[in-house]
Amino acid sequence: MSVEDRDLLTPIATDFDFHLGHVFMEPADFVENIYFIDEGIVSAVALMADGRSVEAYMVGREGFIGSTAWQIPAKTAVRYVAQMAGKSRKVEARRMRELATRSQSLRVVMATYDAALQRELEQSTACNAVHTSERRFAKWLLRAHDRANDAVLQMTQEFLANMLGSQRTTVNEAAQNLTRRGAIAYSRGRVTVLNRQILEASACECYGATKGIADGIMRVGE
Ligand SMILES: [Zn+2]
Repeated sequence: MSVEDRDLLTPIATDFDFHLGHVFMEPADFVENIYFIDEGIVSAVALMADGRSVEAYMVGREGFIGSTAWQIPAKTAVRYVAQMAGKSRKVEARRMRELATRSQSLRVVMATYDAALQRELEQSTACNAVHTSERRFAKWLLRAHDRANDAVLQMTQEFLANMLGSQRTTVNEAAQNLTRRGAIAYSRGRVTVLNRQILEASACECYGATKGIADGIMRVGE
């Protein structure tokens, strides 16, 4: 983001720290605020009528939550929930829309992220259909690790199963296999990434296919 655009945003942004499990928005909520994530991880989770939930995408310091509300008044279709505590800057969506009409470069930054997100969603549609739970689990851990400041990720099996749309037993099996290979250590709600190379070799191609896009945005955002 350019210095000029930062100067536009700073006066109307307020710091917003969030804890693990904080729910920013529920499905059908009108998006009042856009949150630019500085630290931590937020999951966009799709909720099914039978109570099951699956992560649609995750957002870290490369992005923001609140989706298209920076362009048009919008409701959210997902639950935004913090899967790792962190910090963000909150800007009223209404003010954001005013700024976006004034700054072409700001529109480009925001639209670039939206486009990357769309690319990722396209990839994950195929991923969910054809790749095994274990490979998707490894991909998910890498993506979380990229966004975390720590090698230790706090998360229960139930949470991981929800994120992946898998059974707890499937996640448990995948975690055991990755542990045997030396990629991670897993104990009660804590995943420690020990060897990224092994983890990358265990993940499906989708990690590499979208990583470049996320890296590019992380650099733009720095
Ligand atoms: Zn995949």
